[in-house]
Amino acid sequence: MTKRIRGCTKIPPFRMIGNLYFVGTYEASSHLIDTGDGLILIDTGYEITADVVAASIKELGYDIKDVKIILHSHGHYDHTDATPRILKLAPQAKTYLSFKDIKYIEGWTPDYDILDGDVIELGNTKIECLFTPGHTEGSVSFFMDVVEDGQVYRAAMFGGAGVNQLKKDFMKNYDVPYRCRGMFFDSVERLLERKVDVMIGNHCWHNQTLEKREKMLAGAKVNPFIEPTEWETFLKKLHAKLWNVITEEISTKFVNYAHRGASEYYPENTLSAFRAGLEMGANGIETDVRRTKDGKLVLFHDDTLERMTGQAGGVQDYTYEELQKFDVIEGELTDKIPLFEDFLKEFADKEIAFAIELKEDGVEEEVADLIYKYGIEKKTMVTAFSLTRIRKVKEYKPNLRIGFLTKSLEEERINALLDMEADEVCPLYSLCTTEKVTELHRLGFNVRAWGIAADPERMKIACIAGADGMTINAPDLLTKYLAENNNV
Ligand SMILES: [Zn+2]
Repeated sequence: MTKRIRGCTKIPPFRMIGNLYFVGTYEASSHLIDTGDGLILIDTGYEITADVVAASIKELGYDIKDVKIILHSHGHYDHTDATPRILKLAPQAKTYLSFKDIKYIEGWTPDYDILDGDVIELGNTKIECLFTPGHTEGSVSFFMDVVEDGQVYRAAMFGGAGVNQLKKDFMKNYDVPYRCRGMFFDSVERLLERKVDVMIGNHCWHNQTLEKREKMLAGAKVNPFIEPTEWETFLKKLHAKLWNVITEEISTKFVNYAHRGASEYYPENTLSAFRAGLEMGANGIETDVRRTKDGKLVLFHDDTLERMTGQAGGVQDYTYEELQKFDVIEGELTDKIPLFEDFLKEFADKEIAFAIELKEDGVEEEVADLIYKYGIEKKTMVTAFSLTRIRKVKEYKPNLRIGFLTKSLEEERINALLDMEADEVCPLYSLCTTEKVTELHRLGFNVRAWGIAADPERMKIACIAGADGMTINAPDLLTKYLAENNNV
């Protein structure tokens, strides 16, 4: 992960409430808990701020050697990079992080995985851990009681509250599954069920740490960190913020997939068709992959050969050599059935999205390998009508995005897709209602409509429903429709 090393603004350490202290910087919050039997540190911060955190602990009169537990809310570097340096100063400390976030950390290995419902106990303090993924795959939230003037208050931190990491560009660059959006909504809804009196910020701007500190210094009668409506307001804002990200992307990053090329005008699934599709304004390509009798991967749709030869049959009945004798014809135009690899050689460098449909079993690993060989893995969705097929792709290459083409949105299928952390659902256009698409977005799926052919009425249905993209035989018609409707 590219690191933005920013300057660090030291905040004088202070007691927030009860036995909870702030020892972080403006850029990254760190919190210290004095349990009476050793210290707990929550998040260590940027590497460059390790000394600041250590100095803050000392300034409060504590010895950093007494830190026994270091909890990490999630794996991003602004919460974890200082950990190796802190560990040198606090060698007895045990480190905790959800193992689902190990991919984000560098230079250290956590001692313990954090699981949903774990209670971490030290001295007078019990910290309840809630698994709240979304911001990262392993974000964890912490709940604890704090006592102030004899009163017990529930304090909590949402351990992964940022939604900027759920923008598609970011998710693509860092291999974050689209499903994290659904997980984020789930987590926010789960956290909303909790009653919280004191919100602990994962960053200063989440709970206005500085402003509250000023109020304390100015002699506020009631501890400003006690703010029983803050938690709910904050979470609801985040919920709305992610919806804004999603709706904004639908209007600015809509993908017009040339479906098997521009087959309304050109021989489908051929190189000339895809060239034409891009010229017509498509910013994506959807194609089908099958295997020939001699084991070669070619672009091929179900009925291409029938249309070519007038006889039933598929590419599996022919060698690649034999297939070259046939012409794929559309009107006056002809072309040949291409190798999948020739397609990749020509189009891989283009800044477009790819949807590659696996038309048969047994091609999963080879297709995945070629996707990586040609470096299109971050802009590709591997799809199929078969759940088994896409599951196999995900098992083989967990970072590759997978989508499911379907004519029905039964709950059972959706649940299976959630289980395998699929990224996209591709419903037939007629299933695309605003309610359905919204529901799929809420679950964290990208939604691409298909079956549009070249029908403007169908295009309209998918656009109004709020799909993220659609496959189409006539990309120019869609480009025109979107331009007219100010959608792009
Ligand atoms: Zn983060």
